[in-house]
Amino acid sequence: MTTDTPASVKMEAIVSLAKRRGFIFPSSEIYGGFGSTWDYGPVGVELKRNVKDAWWRSMVRQRDDIVGLDAAILMSPSVWETSGHVASFSDPLVDCLSCKQRFREDELQQDACPTCGSSEGFTSARQFNLMFKTHVGPVEDEGALAYLRPETAQGIFVNFGNVLTATRRRLPFGIAQQGKAFRNEITPGNFIFRTREFEQMEIEFFVHPDTAAEWYTRWIEIREQWYVDLGLRAENLRRRVHPQEELSHYSAGTTDLEYRFPQGWAELEGIANRTDFDLKAHAEASGQRLSYFDQESGQHVVPYVIEPSAGADRALLAFLVDAYTVEPDENGNDRVVLKFHPRLAPYKVGVLPLSRKQPLVEMARNVWSRVRSHWATQYDDSQSIGRRYRRQDELGTPCCVTVDFDSLDDHAVTIRDRDDQAQERVRVEDLVDALRMRLEC
Ligand code: ATP
Repeated sequence: MTTDTPASVKMEAIVSLAKRRGFIFPSSEIYGGFGSTWDYGPVGVELKRNVKDAWWRSMVRQRDDIVGLDAAILMSPSVWETSGHVASFSDPLVDCLSCKQRFREDELQQDACPTCGSSEGFTSARQFNLMFKTHVGPVEDEGALAYLRPETAQGIFVNFGNVLTATRRRLPFGIAQQGKAFRNEITPGNFIFRTREFEQMEIEFFVHPDTAAEWYTRWIEIREQWYVDLGLRAENLRRRVHPQEELSHYSAGTTDLEYRFPQGWAELEGIANRTDFDLKAHAEASGQRLSYFDQESGQHVVPYVIEPSAGADRALLAFLVDAYTVEPDENGNDRVVLKFHPRLAPYKVGVLPLSRKQPLVEMARNVWSRVRSHWATQYDDSQSIGRRYRRQDELGTPCCVTVDFDSLDDHAVTIRDRDDQAQERVRVEDLVDALRMRLEC
């Protein structure tokens, strides 16, 4: 068996499959594309939704100490002044003296230009602020300036008081949010790994300062386990503790969860101890009290914050790469199969009638409607059954249900398993239960 491991999976193979099967398309493609922006197609949108839903389910619904929020992308510019983003959310930008191409200085690994190979050198670094600016309202002056948020976290901090009052939470508790963030990255690339518009899944977990170190460790474990539970192979995940000199201005400790992407090990998610930096800064700048009244000690406490900050697109890429497998099919030919965890698989069941003739079609449609009310499905009646299996393998569909001519007599259908290609005959009336056993693990 020639099973590809993620290290040997080429990004080109992923990009090509993603386009061919409707996961991800280059944005504005008919106009030649638009630098490092991508659109999720019919399959990709299901996958992304599943990634976000799995996160929401584990982090919000299944916990009793986290509530959700959905703040606006456009916020008062004061938020970004106070948070430090206006002054220091920047990367060091250098230009190649020969070809003028721009790079992030901290990403250059050699003296020669990675684009033209010239050794002429680079300009000295200048700080490039990554926030996108826009103007709100009909007048384009400084007074109407606004930023597209570069992280979702600040929407949580500025709503801390609202959530506390509305929910009467006690420490420790968290606020979770998913949503778009925008960064004018100097060097986007590696498919959806680094883009200028992306989606984050962030939790701000507020704790008593004395327990921050303990919660920081706990959150690293919880978040790592989340990926493993959803099928990421543990050997493709590792932790990287940021050295002191690398820490952001607000952080007392940051650990990245890194994944072995096709381009190498790189950050999948960051877990930071943000201390009381943000709440204190916003309290001071806004004049509002952003603290918690601790009944036991009778004192107001400004909580510390542990922040697990993940990217939905980056997580999706990791799941896609990790699921990508090339192995022999029933006939010894190569088949590409995406071995997604059933919870993440874009479609759970493919319904495949063996023929387009009546009365088989009517029965197949009947079977389909039984299954469709439970899971995301695909009905596929074109080309040979072998081809249809291959197609569903490439979509990562865990179960195919084949309706054949015997089905008309025995009222049974065949379930074909994506991973071991084993087939099982089940009665139509038992089908939903049989699928549930396989899908809801
Ligand atoms: P880097 O150092 O790689 O630029 P970062 O440390 O600034 O990233 P964070 O601010 O910690 O990233 O963002 C939290 C998460 O958001 C990241 O772990 C990643 O999953 C996601 N993310 C950040 N920037 C991007 C981007 N440009 N494209 C896609 N996802 C991103």
